[in-house]
Amino acid sequence: MSHEGIRFSSKEEQARENQQNRPLPRVAVTPEKVRVLLTEGKGMEIDWADGHKSAWSFAWLRDACPCATCIEERAQEGRKPGQPKPKPAALLPMYAPPPKPRSVHPVGRYAIQFNWLDGHAGGIYSWEYLRRVCQCQECTFAAAEPAGTPNY
Ligand SMILES: [Zn+2]
Ligand SMILES: [Zn+2]
Repeated sequence: MSHEGIRFSSKEEQARENQQNRPLPRVAVTPEKVRVLLTEGKGMEIDWADGHKSAWSFAWLRDACPCATCIEERAQEGRKPGQPKPKPAALLPMYAPPPKPRSVHPVGRYAIQFNWLDGHAGGIYSWEYLRRVCQCQECTFAAAEPAGTPNY
């Protein structure tokens, strides 16, 4: 394997650090429009006051649940927010319906809460959290792992 393909400079690492640690300006965590595509079962889209746009699938959001139980579970399994659990080594493939909320509720002016069909409802997704886990190309590139670890 040639090293020419590795393009992570220290500058990009710096950007990644900044991405994770810097406080976000208010316009970056203020949603201008929130679209929850419940009927389509697709996911959620947010247009932010600073012009940035984010979108997540419901499956991703379910696996990024910010409740204490899910955070601990992810930490134990070494999963990042939105990263699915490893598939159980079942002999028979079991059909699992894709995660979808039964209902969605605003929490004050700072967050949104999903009541998932699987009965889970503890996660409060703050705007700031959602902005920090934006999955757009720009943000995922800035947050990418250093060369040598797989990207998801
Ligand atoms: Zn949870
Ligand atoms: Zn983004």
